Amino acid sequence: MVKGGYLKMLLHGRCSFDCAYCGICRRENAPSFAPKELADLICSLWKESRITGLFLSTGIPRDCGKSMDDLIEAATLMRRGGFTGYLHLKVVPGALRTDINEAARLANRISINLEAVDKDRLSEIASVKNYESDLLRRHAWVAEAAPGRHTTQIVVGAADETDGEILSFMHREYQRFAPASIYYSGLTPLPGTPLARAAPAKPARMRSLYAVDALVREYGYSQDETAAALDEEGNLLPGDPKINVSGDRRIDPSSATREELIRVPGIGPKAAGRIICMRGAGQVVTEKMLREAGVVMKRAGAYLVVGGRVQGRIG
Ligand code: SF4
Repeated sequence: MVKGGYLKMLLHGRCSFDCAYCGICRRENAPSFAPKELADLICSLWKESRITGLFLSTGIPRDCGKSMDDLIEAATLMRRGGFTGYLHLKVVPGALRTDINEAARLANRISINLEAVDKDRLSEIASVKNYESDLLRRHAWVAEAAPGRHTTQIVVGAADETDGEILSFMHREYQRFAPASIYYSGLTPLPGTPLARAAPAKPARMRSLYAVDALVREYGYSQDETAAALDEEGNLLPGDPKINVSGDRRIDPSSATREELIRVPGIGPKAAGRIICMRGAGQVVTEKMLREAGVVMKRAGAYLVVGGRVQGRIG
């Protein structure tokens, strides 16, 4: 698949693992490339300017070591053949540390999919992968080999996990491994898989999870703060998580800290930075200045006291 010049490919299209959400392991006669064959293809597409980058993953037809060796060989041959474009390599579960280091050397970004929030949830959807040794230990090696250049992914809705479990996972991940981002892949039930009749992940759930992720990753919200976005059963409340965690506290933008400003719905890090610059000379911040700074007053007004005046009603 090519999207914006970014090609997504599988080196081996078949897999001997049994992840319940995945259609790859059940495909008969799935295509498979020899490393040189794939490298030649990528180099010729690159030379013809038909691609700008490649996301390369692989199934595991036999054992993890062989699949990872093939992935590294393909990437090595591509680089030698002149492919200097963006390369994202997906590390396979159980990969050797030396192979992970080599993948990090060859690629712009590497990742390993954790697939589930913890080992109990993973055991509900995959019997072959060991969460602790095949995934978490490798994840730590990936993080060490490519600091700031690695990501991970979980499947949302495959193992009946609650949003609260996902939020706990999210905080653990960013604190422990500092990935550049986490991908939340909503379950799409595929025909012929054990989850064919499962409910697909709802788009609203996915939007809310990504919104909370941004609060944690970009704004530095703590786990206690994001817990306010959950209902008693551990699911995200309807609506914008940033509004749901804001409570009824109002701030004065003339004296608020950056951390206080970015916690107001309608004020992002850029707008907060501009407000702080504007008031540098001890100036009292006005509504006009807030608009000029990029504040969305329709959302932010209720949480602001400007010139002694409350700007709107919360809720
Ligand atoms: S290891 Fe990857 S490719 Fe293989 S079945 Fe699991 S998700 Fe699919």
